[in-house]
Amino acid sequence: MPELPEVETTLRGISKKILNKEISSFISREKKLRWIIPPTIGKRVKGQRINNAFRRGKYIIFELDNCSLIIHLGMSGKLRVFNKKMKPKKHEHWDLNFTDNWTLRYTDIRKFGVLDLTLKNPLEHKLLKDLGPEPLGNSFNGIYLFEKSRKKSIAVKQFIMNAKIVVGVGNIYANEALFMAGIKPIKKAGKVTKKEYENLSTKIVKVLKDAIHEGGTTLKDYSNAEEAPGYFKKKLQVYGRGNLECFICRKNLKEIRLGNRSTVYCVSCQN
Ligand SMILES: [Zn+2]
Repeated sequence: MPELPEVETTLRGISKKILNKEISSFISREKKLRWIIPPTIGKRVKGQRINNAFRRGKYIIFELDNCSLIIHLGMSGKLRVFNKKMKPKKHEHWDLNFTDNWTLRYTDIRKFGVLDLTLKNPLEHKLLKDLGPEPLGNSFNGIYLFEKSRKKSIAVKQFIMNAKIVVGVGNIYANEALFMAGIKPIKKAGKVTKKEYENLSTKIVKVLKDAIHEGGTTLKDYSNAEEAPGYFKKKLQVYGRGNLECFICRKNLKEIRLGNRSTVYCVSCQN
């Protein structure tokens, strides 16, 4: 599933090729992804320019002259820029064509992605308005997590994965950040101390920045349809390593299901 680092990497990759370009047409080969693709998009976007492209959580937003497009990659979505002459393949559901040689093409095998259009402030859109702060932004820190978590009995891992608390901390990153911070994923969020949250917040930022850095090197060619996203697998310390040796103490890592998500931790290094 594309997580915040993949979405950020995607955005950085496509931005150079689409910003300030005029849209010549929108073509959809599918009526519905997760939800119906608004049938008016084609008429609305024609002749407009993409003035700004940014990320909010795992959403990508394009600000045009008088509307905005909101995109989510769902479980398997990819956005890539192709030469217009390249014929669409199976699972390539929509194209945003520009007046030059390029098209922005959306591929999604599982069709769980989102494309919507809004005439209002995109940040007020129903999908975006309740999102918590950006983990790489200024309002996210240990004190924020500490204050939000008081009296909460939910596990700290589920707490940091809640997009209303902080966006973009997916399962891999939650596992890794909690290991790096030495905090057991099953510990109640309300029992984690201020000092532990300060440590955890810096580790969340570190793991996301590292992943963006790796994503940036793995996904550098956006016109190559075969390029696979590479999650910096070689660096993962706990995720996907249940029952293998902890890199620090060499005891076997424990794997459990927490909120139906794979959760791996070290019983001796994490308290
Ligand atoms: Zn250990």
